[in-house]
Amino acid sequence: MNFIQTRGHDKNRPQYVTFSQAILSPIASFGGLYVPENLPELGKEFLNKHLNSSYKELASDMLSRFEIDIDESVIKEALDLYDNFDDVSNPVPVKKVKENLYISELYHGPTRAFKDMALQPFGVVLSSIAQKRNENYLILAATSGDTGPAALETFKNRANVQVACLYPDGGTSDVQRLQMVTEDAPNLKVIGINGVFDDAQNALKRLLASDDFRAELKTKNISLSAANSVNFGRIIFQIIYHIHSYLELVRQGATVMGEKVYLNVPSGNFGNALGGYYAWKMGVPVEKIIISSNENNVLTKLIKTGKYDLRDLHVVGTTSPAMDILKSSNVERILYDMFGLERTRELMEDLETKNFYELTQDELVRLQNSFDADFCNGEEGKKYIKDTFYNDGYLMDPHTATCMKSYETCSSPEIKTIAYSTAEWTKFSPVIANALTGELDAHDIEALESISKVAKLDIPDMVKGLFDKEVVQNTIIEKEDIEKEILKFL
Ligand SMILES: *Cc1c(COP(=O)(O)O)cnc(C)c1O
Repeated sequence: MNFIQTRGHDKNRPQYVTFSQAILSPIASFGGLYVPENLPELGKEFLNKHLNSSYKELASDMLSRFEIDIDESVIKEALDLYDNFDDVSNPVPVKKVKENLYISELYHGPTRAFKDMALQPFGVVLSSIAQKRNENYLILAATSGDTGPAALETFKNRANVQVACLYPDGGTSDVQRLQMVTEDAPNLKVIGINGVFDDAQNALKRLLASDDFRAELKTKNISLSAANSVNFGRIIFQIIYHIHSYLELVRQGATVMGEKVYLNVPSGNFGNALGGYYAWKMGVPVEKIIISSNENNVLTKLIKTGKYDLRDLHVVGTTSPAMDILKSSNVERILYDMFGLERTRELMEDLETKNFYELTQDELVRLQNSFDADFCNGEEGKKYIKDTFYNDGYLMDPHTATCMKSYETCSSPEIKTIAYSTAEWTKFSPVIANALTGELDAHDIEALESISKVAKLDIPDMVKGLFDKEVVQNTIIEKEDIEKEILKFL
């Protein structure tokens, strides 16, 4: 399978690249992204065939349909990491919460958030490509809290890869910070920044674009890459769980094969939602994909009005920080799929130069045929957390809670919904404790204990253990010193 570029071809890069190439340098001509030339058709036959398959069997067959240039043994090793999730027989449980509402839990991996779904196998794949080519890679990551731990966990002690992970000191939860600063491996460097997430993100973008930095790395025989969610190597693993979740509904007798469902996705950079869209195009029966946001609701406005408008807009901090994003990168792949490369390039150029684009009426109708959207603010979210817990016995995190509003406002009740839960309660415990008991300003450890008591849930060992683990990564610096610090580490 070849990969092509969402904004067309600038004649400097190859027009077609392999999967490996798209992973190693994810940015394409004119700043675009790589997409598969065509999506494999799976259809009903594939779904029927996998009705009784394990997650790994389904995943392995789906990946083989993409005909990517990765050895089967590597894929097997990558998928075997799902065995380390909570339930060896099923890494992604799907639970009934209300009449017609099912929640697919994507957080049962080592860092308790959905980033593990893609980053766990991705680490094996990237490291194996680097080894095969006899190249060394520096992976840069900037995190508001979930990507960092997942990237460190997956690349820990992997050959031919080093990771430098930037996080805003004081800008993550205690659990998220501890997951990073207790990671002890010679190929990992965690750097706290005196600043906010945007400072970390901007530093990362600057370094990725800097010829001087690249040249400096070359003298050490190191190439630069990034593990952010525009990388197709992550997206490909995010198609699988949407297919799996549909099959789970059929297995549970909640739906019959062929009946359409809503996929309701708490969205930030749109990687999760894009995986659902691709699964739909490949044959999963979907009525619509519902995009749930927090107060940073550019996606709601895009889908309701056709306008992507960043003018005078600033990111606001919310209780669902992993969704505090305004430039939602993977939307570009939807534009490409619906409107083609010329129009995509035009729209993305408008966004970059004018901070604004607007779809035509026809384009908006097409977008709305596939997507609907709503947003949920922090107070509403807390109410959903509380009500769903006390009325339905289901505990959810503040990201997942954004789906509850759009479930009410965007779906017809006779059609079943699969909503995606992207984080365990342990990762955002102060907000959840506040929602359940009203307690304010608790530290993570106190909040974890009070939720554990109220909800009669054990704090998982991997979370509890963090508080006793030795902090080995204690670099905290000013943002001006990031480059120097990374070079020192290398
Ligand atoms: C990353 C993340 C999201 C957003 O996912 P996208 O694929 O970027 O849309 C939502 N919730 C949590 C907890 C996350 O970590």
